[in-house]
Amino acid sequence: MNYSKNTYAALFNSQKEHQYKVGHSTYKERIKKLKALQYALENTYRDEIREALYKDFKKPQIEVDLTEIYIVVKEIKYIISNLKAWLKKQRVDTPLSLLGTSSYITYEPKGVCLIMSPWNYPINLTFGPLVSAIAGGNTAILKPSEMTPHSSAVMAKMVSALFSENEVALVEGEVEVAQELLKLPFNHIFFTGSPNVGKIVMQAAAKHLTSVTLELGGKSPTLIHTSADLKSAVKNIVWGKFLNNGQTCIAPDYVLLHESLKTEFVTLFKDQVHAYYSEDVQNSESYSRIVNNKHFNRLLSVIDEAKEKNAQIDLGGHSEASSKYISPTLVSNLSEDSKALNDEIFGPILPIKTYQTIDEAIQYINAKEKPLALYIYAKDRKVIKHIIKSTRAGGTCINSNALQYSNHHLPFGGSNNSGIGKSHGFFGFQEFTNARSVLKRHTYTLPYLLFPPYTNLKEKIAKITIKWF
Ligand code: NAD
Repeated sequence: MNYSKNTYAALFNSQKEHQYKVGHSTYKERIKKLKALQYALENTYRDEIREALYKDFKKPQIEVDLTEIYIVVKEIKYIISNLKAWLKKQRVDTPLSLLGTSSYITYEPKGVCLIMSPWNYPINLTFGPLVSAIAGGNTAILKPSEMTPHSSAVMAKMVSALFSENEVALVEGEVEVAQELLKLPFNHIFFTGSPNVGKIVMQAAAKHLTSVTLELGGKSPTLIHTSADLKSAVKNIVWGKFLNNGQTCIAPDYVLLHESLKTEFVTLFKDQVHAYYSEDVQNSESYSRIVNNKHFNRLLSVIDEAKEKNAQIDLGGHSEASSKYISPTLVSNLSEDSKALNDEIFGPILPIKTYQTIDEAIQYINAKEKPLALYIYAKDRKVIKHIIKSTRAGGTCINSNALQYSNHHLPFGGSNNSGIGKSHGFFGFQEFTNARSVLKRHTYTLPYLLFPPYTNLKEKIAKITIKWF
């Protein structure tokens, strides 16, 4: 279905009218919708999704299966097992002062939601939030990124095959489309993208006091302590860094390691890159590409600037514009004002910064914005505890990276500059629902004793209430 600027308001209104019907749906009806989406992802559209992502940035098929399809399917399965319980009235205790009443929480749908997604995991980050929105009983308009048009086209096809547009609709198009949609008074906006655009989204939402979930990015540090198993650390870091060609919000953005470990780290890193992607990385089918020229040029400017400022290229630094290829790159001895140490990398370049004491490394992390992820490689438990207590981050993974994302029992999200709100499992369901509190009076209740007129006796009762209840 093609939408134009003039039809967004009508589309929004059709969902607004339909929202109560959708909101009334039982858990069984919601599960039926989720199962249809699961089947479409696993069967009907799996090959088309793989092809689309290959066209968009040469994403390897196994990475598509694991990081786009499996993640959403796993989320659906988890919701199917839990939704009935989440939709039940959640009874809560009654304080003595409210004797004669009972209370519960009910998770009601927020209503009409806007889901805006980035290009780097287009299927996962569009359908993942949609799954939570459906579980919560909402209607949703999806606006995927303009940078991965093949993936957006498959998703548009899937959405129109699976849902009526007054329930779920997908609007393709450029940034202007997002800007128009943001003018509408949605009940909730779930945005995944950069902190800069996150600010634009929050400003637009403020006009209607629309609630927001902002899943943002930034620089995620990887801190390697002298007690770490360096070989195993490198195995994990090389995988986490070059998965999706470094275009992952929770990729290790830079490495902070003790100065005594640097030489060994670089040697191990080179060997591991070759073990995963062969000596001829450019021809490896396991290594994807930069999404477009804008990002390719941005990344080249990070390498060029590092070279100009006499940084050390420890590995790679090669590129081919026609295929948007950048080789796995390690760079150290960077100047503090370099782009590599200040901007989110979001590509296959890994800056190294060395430290002398762990507290110096901690201070370095804390001087920057709160990261989405902070990785710790160490065996010394006291050191791990000290790092966790002394820093702030959306999430942490110890002795590996990125895996914290795939445990749906954990909330996923950032803090301040790296995000507001959480996704996955029950936490995602909570974002798309309002925890409505309901209190029912059954009999004569204690507050009756305090109704006007306010006599001396009532003053005494109030005093007792403050002291004892
Ligand atoms: P982006 O912020 O440029 O774009 C995200 C979405 O916003 C797209 O749908 C785009 O159409 C829209 N958009 C862009 N400019 C806009 C504007 N001026 N007004 C309104 N809408 C606009 O992000 P991106 O480049 O697609 O993705 C990369 C960023 O996303 C990185 O910062 C990364 O860390 C972050 N990210 C975060 C997560 C997470 O879960 N926290 C996941 C993936 C990516």
